[in-house]
Amino acid sequence: MSFSASIITLFPELFPGPLGASVLGRGLADGLWSLEATHLRDFATDRHRTVDDTPSGGGAGMVLKPDILARAIDTVAPASDPRPRILMSPRGTPLTQARARELALGPGAVIVCGRFEGVDQRVIDNRQLEEISIGDYVLAGGEVAAMVLLEAVIRLIPGVLGGADSHADESFENGLLEYPQYTRPQSFEGMDIPAILTSGDHGKIARWRAEQSQALTATRRPDLLKTTKS
Ligand code: SAH
Repeated sequence: MSFSASIITLFPELFPGPLGASVLGRGLADGLWSLEATHLRDFATDRHRTVDDTPSGGGAGMVLKPDILARAIDTVAPASDPRPRILMSPRGTPLTQARARELALGPGAVIVCGRFEGVDQRVIDNRQLEEISIGDYVLAGGEVAAMVLLEAVIRLIPGVLGGADSHADESFENGLLEYPQYTRPQSFEGMDIPAILTSGDHGKIARWRAEQSQALTATRRPDLLKTTKS
């Protein structure tokens, strides 16, 4: 069983979008993962195909109706569906590499993309939606956020990145930011590749990279060092 992503959205035509390019796109074509984007409006019941209504208690904007959204979720993912149900939401748990890795090893995800002011709280509660945020800023809708989540997850699915399947050195994988990378030419605008990297001494190279990772993380993201697993 390969990873199966189901998206509930008012803009299904946005998918797969960037997820269809490069190695992720090849993985999609090769069946390493699959994607289905479902139009929320298909579950509206009136002739105007209404999906939203004004916020109870007043205020600006519109809220996605719980009955319509619940019907969409129940159709895409009946109660027996083992995939986690996720709502992209600025109020959610911040997305981490660790959560992306967990999802990549699972059966897939059902992802609800909010729009307008968000969704009625009762559908979040009753369908046990896991709210995930991609950062402390507000987007216009959940579609780009869902793509960010899926891109982080899908590149971790075994086989998607081909030979480069070891992610151990990457930023966040070990609680650290990655060391600086270099490639040819040897000299660029008067700057040489650090000699140690061309020395052929793999022990020294590994130590240099570890030091660089530590220093970079201490300067830029001291918060990561505090939470580093031992
Ligand atoms: N009124 C809401 C914001 C709604 S933005 C609030 O203040 O919390 C509209 C939709 O965009 C949201 O329902 C969500 O699906 C998506 N969205 C916006 N910012 C996001 C973020 N940082 N992470 C994930 N999804 C986000």
